[in-house]
Amino acid sequence: MSIDLHTHSNFSDGTMTPTELVAMARDKKISALALTDHDTMAGTEEAILAGERMGVEIVPGIEISVLYNHVEYHVLGYWADPCYSPLAAALERLQGARAERNGKILEKLKALGIPVTAEELQRVSEQGQTGRPHIARILVQRGVVLTMSQAFDQFLKKGEAAYVSRFAYSAAEAVALIRQAGGLAVLAHPTQNDPEVIRLPAVLDDLVGAGLDGIELYYPTHSNKVKKKLRALAVEHDLVLTGGSDYHGEVRPGTSLAGGKNIFVPPELLEKMKERLCLRS
Ligand code: AMP
Ligand code: ZN
Ligand code: FE
Ligand code: FE
Repeated sequence: MSIDLHTHSNFSDGTMTPTELVAMARDKKISALALTDHDTMAGTEEAILAGERMGVEIVPGIEISVLYNHVEYHVLGYWADPCYSPLAAALERLQGARAERNGKILEKLKALGIPVTAEELQRVSEQGQTGRPHIARILVQRGVVLTMSQAFDQFLKKGEAAYVSRFAYSAAEAVALIRQAGGLAVLAHPTQNDPEVIRLPAVLDDLVGAGLDGIELYYPTHSNKVKKKLRALAVEHDLVLTGGSDYHGEVRPGTSLAGGKNIFVPPELLEKMKERLCLRS
């Protein structure tokens, strides 16, 4: 039985509700599931209630987009208390920054002859956090581009005509916030921007000093070679290991939750994470 500690619902850029995700986890015999929506924990309560009904352990989670030396990284937080006021205020600030950026992106698209209304964006986003992936979906629906990747490559990524930057916390700030809120801070998909694992040793030296607790080892794109390097770095820095599918629902065809034909994430990892949290208190 696999666990899955990295998933997205329609509270961020996934397509399923937390309840639908939990039902899917139950059907796949996943014993523990973490909902890790981008920059929001608004779906946590629904996931926990569904987990209680369906017999799936729910780990409250979040994935915060951060900057480290001007490069985007993602920091996962597990068991952070969303009611801890500095964390709640930080997430509110991020939502505000996103709203401001989304408006500016829509203005740029309008100037490019692609008018999208704020109402249309809200309809696609459904609830919770709204970001570039939702705008990318609209560009696909309109037939402006064929795929979401193409929407990023032609319009939304840095340097393209509809790109707008936004405020983001530094990696160290996000790690500190998660820890102060009682959570474990984990670096998500640590090789996404660093496939040859060149920068990661120095990044870890720095972030472990800031309180980083773990790194994501099991991830669909991680080769055995990458996993070997990550394991060695985790031992060196005394980090716990985590893993998950990063499932986003039907917007990414061919993807699924962990288990079956996808990655297997051993349940023992969760015990080690809990031990780490317990030792701290
Ligand atoms: P945002 O958080 O609004 O800045 O959007 C960033 C998110 O967009 C990332 O977390 C990814 O999930 C997604 N994303 C980034 N680049 C691409 C791409 N080339 N194709 C599809 N999704 C992407
Ligand atoms: Zn996403
Ligand atoms: Fe991510
Ligand atoms: Fe993710």
